Amino acid sequence: MNAIDKITLNRMRFYGYHGALPEEKKIGQRFLVDVTLSVDLYQAGISDRLDQTINYAQVYSIVREIVEGPSCKLIERVAERIAETLLNTFSMAQSCLIRVIKPDPPIAGHYDSVAVEVIRKRSIAYVGLGSNMGDRPYLLRQALRKLDRTENVRVVRCSSIYETDPYGPVKQNDFLNMAIQIETLLPPDQLLDRLQRIELALKRKREIHWGPRTIDLDMLLFNQDNIDMEKLSVPHPEIARRAFVLRPLEEIAPHLVVPRLNRSVTELWQNLKEKEGVRLWKRNNGEGEFGLFEN
Ligand code: ATP
Ligand code: CA
Ligand code: CA
Repeated sequence: MNAIDKITLNRMRFYGYHGALPEEKKIGQRFLVDVTLSVDLYQAGISDRLDQTINYAQVYSIVREIVEGPSCKLIERVAERIAETLLNTFSMAQSCLIRVIKPDPPIAGHYDSVAVEVIRKRSIAYVGLGSNMGDRPYLLRQALRKLDRTENVRVVRCSSIYETDPYGPVKQNDFLNMAIQIETLLPPDQLLDRLQRIELALKRKREIHWGPRTIDLDMLLFNQDNIDMEKLSVPHPEIARRAFVLRPLEEIAPHLVVPRLNRSVTELWQNLKEKEGVRLWKRNNGEGEFGLFEN
């Protein structure tokens, strides 16, 4: 659900040292900041309890620390840091709009001010993991750890682990597969980049297409987005044809509707003809993500 309620702090005033010009760094100047947070305020409205909303004083002090803190060349950077810190601090906030204004920038001409405005939001993505080389459970676990430790990425939910027959024409060992839900502040191409770095760190080599691999991390879904970039297609184009993807995904997101196909994961699973070759290998009993891998 997207919150449509908002908390706004307008025209917060600070003195800071951001800018590309030497005098901006040395003498400094005034900065104005506007913050709008999208938050569901219904509970707070009913209960009249402070812990069900966002503390404005805390927002102010976060913004202040950044704007009055170390100098950045660009107000773009200042805005980005504010957005990131606010979304990482207040899990209630679904998105934010940050405007950073220089009311008297040291450039010639007549104008009121210069400003940048960024909108950042929390996204939900699903990732499919697979391994059929080396110590498979260890590799899945390492991939999960690395992903969870990636800045602005949090692993929220994990399926059980399934053992699956290899897919495609290449003869190779059985896979272990699982699906996870993550929350992230990264845009999709940046998330892909992080997934590929983790693959590389775990010695993934791209030798044979669809061949054996230590770890494969596929972005299955990103919010309800349709993405058609050269290096990234989301939803994953093969999602509806693969039992080793649908089975674990159904476990953690049965009702999720897959954009483009406009079918829920459960419907896709039910409509799949070839359901064979996917066996439960280790059940996730709800001990949390990493409980899966204990002993
Ligand atoms: P498949 O994509 O059919 O599962 P694969 O996982 O074996 O095959 P890889 O060699 O891992 O294929 O990836 C090939 C390229 O696919 C990557 O370099 C990446 O840019 C691109 N790609 C496109 N869409 C996605 C996606 N949703 N998730 C991951 N990679 C993607
Ligand atoms: Ca794949
Ligand atoms: Ca892949």
